[in-house]
Amino acid sequence: TKHVYTFGAGQAEGKANMKNLLGGKGANLAEMNLIGVPVPPGFTITTEVCTMYNEQGQQATFDLIKPEVEAAVALVEQLTETEFGSKENPCLMSVRSGARASMPGMMDTVLNLGMNDDAVEGITKKSGNSRFAWDSYRRFVQMYGDVVMDMKPASKEEIDPFEEIIEELKEEKGIQLDTEFSTDDLKELVARFKAAVKKVTGKDFPTDPWEQLWGAVAAVFGSWNNDRAIYYRRMEQIPDEWGTAVNCQAMVFGNMGSNSGTGVAFTRDAGTGEDIFNGEYLIDAQGEDVVAGIRTPQEITLEGSKRWAKLQGISEEERASKYPSLEEAMPEMYRQLNDTQQKLEDHYSDMQDLEFTIQEGKLWLLQTRNGKRTGAAMVKMAVDMLEEGRIDEKTALKRIEAAKLDELLHPVFDTAAMKSATVLAKGLPASPGAATGQIVFFADEAASYPESVLVRTETSPEDLEGMNIAKGILTARGGMTSHAAVVARGMGKCCVSGAGAVKINYKTRVMTIDGKEYHEGDWISLNGSTGEVYEGKVSTMDPEMSGNFAKIMDLAQKFTRMSVRTNADSPADAQVARDFGAQGIGLCRTEHMFFEGERIKAMREMILAKTEVDRRKALDKLLPYQREDFEGILEAMAGYGVTIRLLDPPLHEFVPHEEANQKDMAKEMGISVEDVKALVDDLHEFNPMLGHRGCRLGNTYPEITEMQARAIIEAAVNLTQKGVDARPEIMVPLIGTVKEFKLQADIIHATAKKVFEEKGAKCDYMVGTMIEIPRAAMTADLVAEHAEFFSFGTNDLTQMTFGYSRDDAGKFLPIYIEKGILKNDPFQVLDQEGVGQVVKIGVEKGRSTKPDLKVGICGEHGGEPSSVMFCDSVGMDYVSCSPYRVPIARVAAAQANL
Ligand code: PEP
Ligand code: MG
Repeated sequence: TKHVYTFGAGQAEGKANMKNLLGGKGANLAEMNLIGVPVPPGFTITTEVCTMYNEQGQQATFDLIKPEVEAAVALVEQLTETEFGSKENPCLMSVRSGARASMPGMMDTVLNLGMNDDAVEGITKKSGNSRFAWDSYRRFVQMYGDVVMDMKPASKEEIDPFEEIIEELKEEKGIQLDTEFSTDDLKELVARFKAAVKKVTGKDFPTDPWEQLWGAVAAVFGSWNNDRAIYYRRMEQIPDEWGTAVNCQAMVFGNMGSNSGTGVAFTRDAGTGEDIFNGEYLIDAQGEDVVAGIRTPQEITLEGSKRWAKLQGISEEERASKYPSLEEAMPEMYRQLNDTQQKLEDHYSDMQDLEFTIQEGKLWLLQTRNGKRTGAAMVKMAVDMLEEGRIDEKTALKRIEAAKLDELLHPVFDTAAMKSATVLAKGLPASPGAATGQIVFFADEAASYPESVLVRTETSPEDLEGMNIAKGILTARGGMTSHAAVVARGMGKCCVSGAGAVKINYKTRVMTIDGKEYHEGDWISLNGSTGEVYEGKVSTMDPEMSGNFAKIMDLAQKFTRMSVRTNADSPADAQVARDFGAQGIGLCRTEHMFFEGERIKAMREMILAKTEVDRRKALDKLLPYQREDFEGILEAMAGYGVTIRLLDPPLHEFVPHEEANQKDMAKEMGISVEDVKALVDDLHEFNPMLGHRGCRLGNTYPEITEMQARAIIEAAVNLTQKGVDARPEIMVPLIGTVKEFKLQADIIHATAKKVFEEKGAKCDYMVGTMIEIPRAAMTADLVAEHAEFFSFGTNDLTQMTFGYSRDDAGKFLPIYIEKGILKNDPFQVLDQEGVGQVVKIGVEKGRSTKPDLKVGICGEHGGEPSSVMFCDSVGMDYVSCSPYRVPIARVAAAQANL
């Protein structure tokens, strides 16, 4: 096999589609040569060699590739008319890493390789600039010393020995800046650097360019396994086996005077997606100078430069004289660069992010890659490029990173305002968007300010209304499936949950973060997309839901197999989801409606009841409310299935736990506070999530199931009589055994029969179950004998498969992720390896009994792209997610099927 691929002067042995072998950078360097873009000649040592290096060691690997590397260097020398180590025409090279996926700054680079006492003379002659030559030499010794000879200190606290020497010499010479060093000073630095290398490593600094080259190649391969790179791979889920390629390339210099320069450019606007060429450059500078922020980079285009000056408040005269655009400063270079960027975008049919260097009036491209972009730019560019005929529909859809659509659906912080905002704390990005408001600590006080942010240790169902009124919600405890997070996402309301640094004292109405106090009425701002909490008021702007968004949704519709439903509990939420294209409701959590107005009172009467007769009396009061709610929802989703789940939460969630509220309840119900307290105590459970909840309620109090079934069936019959296509699907929660389901299903069918007789009219309905207990999945073949559909409740299924409490996992999950025990929070991203297997078995067993069993998911994972893809792979019919995630799920569902 071939281990080294050369490129240069319009020829290349590799090409763009060889990223696995050549890395992203190497493949694109080859490709640019092939399409006639000027690239300094060089060669790429493949990623396979890296793997071999790490498995079989240096000696065997280098022996194998030596002839190829020597031939490749000879080619570079020939194309550049230079020679390694020459006194007249020395060849200098850069040696860089380049993996399949970009791993910015994680691995090592060596520049100016080939420099020694002879070469520096050659460079002096060639450039006519001895200062430049010696500066390049001292940079090389420093970089090579750090990277290859391990001179870089292991800890961040220690300073680089070379920097120490630089500081020493500055002091001796009484100067401040590197740029003030004379040529002799630079010579002195080279000498002292080499002495330091000898002292620390006991080795002479290598003068032989070949020795330098092999050392650098070894260092780059070795850097694949440095701590930073390993950490980054874990974070981005890049496999360790991929390895990095090494790119060796003739050096070009942007710091050779006023007709040289360097810069970075984008073929389109990465922020907005507009087709505007843009970027920054510096005259007489090297790549790192643009990034380092020591000098102010200038805009490439005249138009961009003018816009920049305006934002900075710089006059046109000052701009033109001090910060001219490349277009003005080097018109011919600009013209070539502009042609090249167009050529690259035409060729790759995607927005390119490119690096260039101008050496003494000659343009060179050093890198091109698909540019990173915002959600808005992503959508606009995909649609524009489709309409420009550059890409086809499937490609346009593939360009959408589903999770990023979020950015388009919620208010966002004004970018300018963000720059000056102070971060107070960080929590989980529980529900995206931006919110700013005055602090309130109690849900029923959310309306005290026109714009409020509800700050709670955690929220409970009784806070619902206040959560809806507040602009945003901040909780100190709770994960991504905590009450606050789930409800906020459903509402499309910004929420940061589990911000551990936030301490709340409800009594004094004070929030403390790192010792600093914030009182009720103080302004704070939340970024629900990053989890950041800011001090004060940060201004927001509304998202732009342009026509492009709709076009992407149409494409998703065209290619999807699964349908996307929504989790919605009210007609209003159902309508939002319909507008986003949801086809039905996959989960209506009926209990959420029990907190509105008079309903909670009837609910509490039911809980207080000591006998079945009393319970039935209270349930009779709830019935009309429930029926009305169901009519609203079934009507909003006419023509689509609406899965209504029977009562699920433990009853303690419906009684007040705070003293003041207990008093209110006592007054309202006409009983003593002691009675209320006794009730609350009575409902206390040690593990409520594993306690008296789900179908265990319906099986102990069948009259609850009866009332709910009646409300649903009556609502559907009423609508059917009005000519509305109502399609209720009644769902039993939390079953573990078929018997638990069967008893509930019997009650539902009997009730339906009764209602049909009473009304002399019928409606269609289905009865199915949630699969959210591992035992239900393992016995799904038996369950499917009676159930007409399955809906996987992966929140509880994750809780019970891992044995992690959904409400307490926030304490250890972040540490587990940091330590690499888990890759992701399994409550956010479905654990395909474990929980996913339980799901798969459940689907297979269910369908082994009923081949056309309808199967979906309604846990939070139904809106997470990788989980949606998994659902497609196990053959689910639909996924269901909160309304604002519907577009994300639709794109992911379509992509799963491309
Ligand atoms: C689930 O467990 O996945 C589910 C959807 O039900 P809930 O979150 O209401 O327990
Ligand atoms: Mg559940």
